[in-house]
Amino acid sequence: MTLTAIKGFNDVLPGESGRWHYIEEAARRVFELNGFGEIRVPVMEKTELFCRSIGDATDIVEKEMYTFTDKGENSVTLRPEGTAGVMRAFIEHKLYAQDPVSRLYYLGPMFRYERPQKGRYRQFHQIGAEITGVHDPLADAQVLNMLTAFFREIGLDEPSLQINSLGCPECRPAYRAALCSFLNERLEDLCEDCRRRLTSNPLRTLDCKVLGCVQATAEAPSMLDHLCGDCDQHFGSVRRYLDLSVTPYSINPRMVRGLDYYTRTTFEMVTGLLGSQSAVAAGGRYDGLISQLGGPAIPGIGFAMGVERVALLLGQREFASTPDLFIATMGSGERDTAYKLMDGLLKLGVRVELDYEGKSLKSQMRRADKLAARYSVVIGENEVNSGRASFKRMSDGTTTELALNAEEIAAALAVR
Ligand code: ATP
Ligand code: MG
Repeated sequence: MTLTAIKGFNDVLPGESGRWHYIEEAARRVFELNGFGEIRVPVMEKTELFCRSIGDATDIVEKEMYTFTDKGENSVTLRPEGTAGVMRAFIEHKLYAQDPVSRLYYLGPMFRYERPQKGRYRQFHQIGAEITGVHDPLADAQVLNMLTAFFREIGLDEPSLQINSLGCPECRPAYRAALCSFLNERLEDLCEDCRRRLTSNPLRTLDCKVLGCVQATAEAPSMLDHLCGDCDQHFGSVRRYLDLSVTPYSINPRMVRGLDYYTRTTFEMVTGLLGSQSAVAAGGRYDGLISQLGGPAIPGIGFAMGVERVALLLGQREFASTPDLFIATMGSGERDTAYKLMDGLLKLGVRVELDYEGKSLKSQMRRADKLAARYSVVIGENEVNSGRASFKRMSDGTTTELALNAEEIAAALAVR
């Protein structure tokens, strides 16, 4: 029997990796422009890190983690998200002692045991960014502007930004109580999961996709009506900054996030194009997380976007790079000349293709077409003897005669 990949784990084939590079390079460009530096952390951490940060009563920790016992009897987990590991490293290496403000970004695979479907996989990839050390809503605005700029950079006007505030440990308990008493009156309309959430994590009921729950919570009280003075002012300032930078957004008072560490500003980049996988990027403020993990009381805010979902939004645009020149040969006698020319051009940074097998001229030219080479040249006995050849521009068939000299050819082909 032939072996296949694990369900929900995907290969990214060469035809598709160009789209991934496009996304990753745009993210690096935009994030580094904003003063963020890359941090690379392990894909596996002690299980306790995720329980303590993401929260025991979340979908991720309850049912989605790849947790196992290693040969040394330690419970380890493949990271389901990036922030916990980045903050663990931040504390472990005392990055806050080098600079009161840290701006970090990361990219890499994450693992969640979910039901695989379009835009939802068991190994997926995130690109994320975090600012620590800033209470001021200016940091929230910078993060949101940067995320918006990233989607502009890759040429998408979808998805759109939605923001909310989840309050803080001062004001959320009263809201939670108000929500619980509202939900208790509608117990029989809630799904089994939501009835359970009522005691463990009642805010999650606002996020339930079951129709009965959506209807039952339509008139639920809003966190935004329960914010304390400080949270209300913070949220107002975030909105004012976004208005100043003309960043489009809408307020979604029902947005709750699937991780317990969020406080105050939360946000999602939402699209209508990917069915129920509507969140392309998501994040928020986590002012209590660093101290909860044993570090100093330092605030933070960040987001993560799903690379697979961004790639789906980009659609079938062509991102593969194509050869600058295809060298065809009439027969085996010209192979050495063609090989030397290819070698010289590659050394000058010109992307050249040569037929490996010495097939018929017709089949070589078919291959030049298939690879979408910009130019082609046929080298036969005459070309070898004269040291000159005719270079054909494939888009319109015009030809230019050039010496078989790598420098000269490289200079001529550089003109696009
Ligand atoms: P969803 O509501 O779709 O389950 P989430 O709230 O669990 O998303 P986050 O934990 O906030 O997602 O992760 C941030 C981003 O990572 C999401 O917006 C999404 O683009 C992506 N993502 C999350 N889970 C998956 C997955 N299983 N497969 C692919 N991408 C994912
Ligand atoms: Mg999820």
